Amino acid sequence: MDYNPPVKKILISEEQINKRVKELADKISQDYKGKTPILAGVLRGSVLFFSNLVKNLTVDCNLDFMCLTSYNGTSSSGKVRFILDLREDIKDRDVIIVEDIVDTGITAKYLFDLLKTRNPASIEMCTLLDKPSNRKIDIKPKYTGFEIENEFVIGYGLDYNELYRNLPYIGVFDETKK
Ligand code: 5GP
Repeated sequence: MDYNPPVKKILISEEQINKRVKELADKISQDYKGKTPILAGVLRGSVLFFSNLVKNLTVDCNLDFMCLTSYNGTSSSGKVRFILDLREDIKDRDVIIVEDIVDTGITAKYLFDLLKTRNPASIEMCTLLDKPSNRKIDIKPKYTGFEIENEFVIGYGLDYNELYRNLPYIGVFDETKK
């Protein structure tokens, strides 16, 4: 049991995440009553949030995934690379993009612009975390779990160089212990 990931402090506990995710799922279930939205998870960071969110939804939904990369270590490369596309045809469908975190907003804008060209009936974003102070593009997700300060965080799906996604909480990354 001596697992010591490089975490300075636990920012959001598993209990806090579970409570908030349930609230988000309830809100989405209300807003999409009578519809069948496509939940489009952005891999890999959203994977834990995505599964928690969808199992709390009380509307029919389809699940689909995209895979993108833009980060290198603790800073964004600023360039988004699209690695895996959705399988579903989103034309005339209600789409909810599920993200781990919106930081500069570059990825979110890229996704909205791309998916809008496919003529969905509606498109919104649900993110577990939001760092509004680091925004470069003015974008506000409709559903946000937690707003956080401009610190690099890991856990609950979020990585540092592909590690620590397994942590059940959100922690502030400790550069000195990596
Ligand atoms: P944006 O395009 O908004 O700058 O960044 C979005 C992506 O950057 C997120 O999906 C996530 O992969 C990564 N990212 C931004 N901030 C953090 C952070 O604090 N920790 C981790 N692990 N990834 C982050």
